[in-house]
Amino acid sequence: MELQPNDTQKLIQDTARGFARDRLAPNARMLDREERFPIEALREMAGLGLMGINVPEEFGGAGAGVVSYALAVMELAAACASTTVAMCVTNMCAELICQFGTDAQRKRFVPRLTSGEAVAGAFALSEPHSGSDASALRTTAKRVGDRWVLNGTKQWITSGAHAGVMVVWARTADTGGRGISCFIVEKGTPGLTAGRHEEKMGLRGSNTVPLTFENCEIPVDHLLGNEGDGFKLAMTALDGGRVGIASQACGVGRAALDASVKYMKERQAFGQPISEFQALRWFVADMQTQLSAAEMLTLRAAWMKENKLPFTREASMAKVFASEMSNRACDKAVQVHGGYGYIDEFPVERLMRDARVQTIYEGTSEIQRVVIARDLYRAHDARS
Ligand SMILES: Cc1cc2nc3c(=O)[nH]c(=O)nc-3n(C[C@H](O)[C@H](O)[C@H](O)COP(=O)(O)OP(=O)(O)OC[C@H]3O[C@@H](n4cnc5c(N)ncnc54)[C@H](O)[C@@H]3O)c2cc1C
Repeated sequence: MELQPNDTQKLIQDTARGFARDRLAPNARMLDREERFPIEALREMAGLGLMGINVPEEFGGAGAGVVSYALAVMELAAACASTTVAMCVTNMCAELICQFGTDAQRKRFVPRLTSGEAVAGAFALSEPHSGSDASALRTTAKRVGDRWVLNGTKQWITSGAHAGVMVVWARTADTGGRGISCFIVEKGTPGLTAGRHEEKMGLRGSNTVPLTFENCEIPVDHLLGNEGDGFKLAMTALDGGRVGIASQACGVGRAALDASVKYMKERQAFGQPISEFQALRWFVADMQTQLSAAEMLTLRAAWMKENKLPFTREASMAKVFASEMSNRACDKAVQVHGGYGYIDEFPVERLMRDARVQTIYEGTSEIQRVVIARDLYRAHDARS
């Protein structure tokens, strides 16, 4: 694995860094306060090739690989995690349709995601009664002639009220995980309703809604992959998605560290800058060490995915470690800022709220540890 980005990776990283600085950072506080979904910024990101970074160019993607994606997400999340989560889910949907879709599905839906026409993609797996235990989902899809008819409710769906193209999981048979299939559903399909926007602790510029399907009819050729393969598609997408969340976590953690160093050099106490106090030096030294380790784990998982190596364990390791280190860094950053860390005049208060969900969505920290331990046991059994 190369430690220096190659030319393509550098170009994507620089593009994301410039956009984050010029377009995302100035609006992040406003989006958070007003709970405003960043439609314009998402369209501009599509124009820069950031909505299909690992998607082939023939479908409107940048064809730049997973390491480029991770580097871009780190830059964007450091400026605005709310916008970045919508961008990540859109990339995830575009990749999933590319990987498992028919030629017709790829040509029809992927360019709508990568070009910004769809504004965003949505990934509708969780339900009111099933988050970690995704195989217990209850939404049904019944075949009636040349249509699938969907009934049920999805919960916590990122960008759900705005996404033009969604991937939706539903039960096609009563056979546990093997009875789940995946479907492509377009915004505006009769019978599909987005519910009330959730008022969240953080990521307040990101749209999070329940989706209700009431006799929602979609054409038979909107089945993504084979009938009954839905759970496999979800787990494949989530492995990649976890590299995205780990990258978000690295970005938010890095922003907290940068804000801390800046503040420590400016703030005076006892006749000197607080950066001179050893207690605070140890904070930033630990933050730097932990975030560097998180970045390495994340880029390693990205590199393994890019090189078509098994990366489930690495993605979970990166996700659990980066999200926990990001939360730790944000907590320390608030401490370094004293009282100013607790008010919204300084960015660390928002960073801490934005970081909190990283150990929850796309698989909680506990579920990541389940995945890591299971893979470890399997590898051990295979050796003995
Ligand atoms: C802001 C936000 C955005 C989201 N976006 C999406 C989205 O776009 N699409 C989507 O499908 N979902 C989305 N989600 C849902 C998210 O993925 C779930 O909330 C998450 O997977 C946890 O599921 P749950 O909330 O049902 O918690 P539960 O599964 O009920 O978990 C509750 C607790 O039990 C623990 N637990 C559960 N099972 C085990 C186990 N086997 N071993 C040990 N501990 C366990 C969990 O770790 C947790 O601490 C989003 C959630 C949020 C908050």
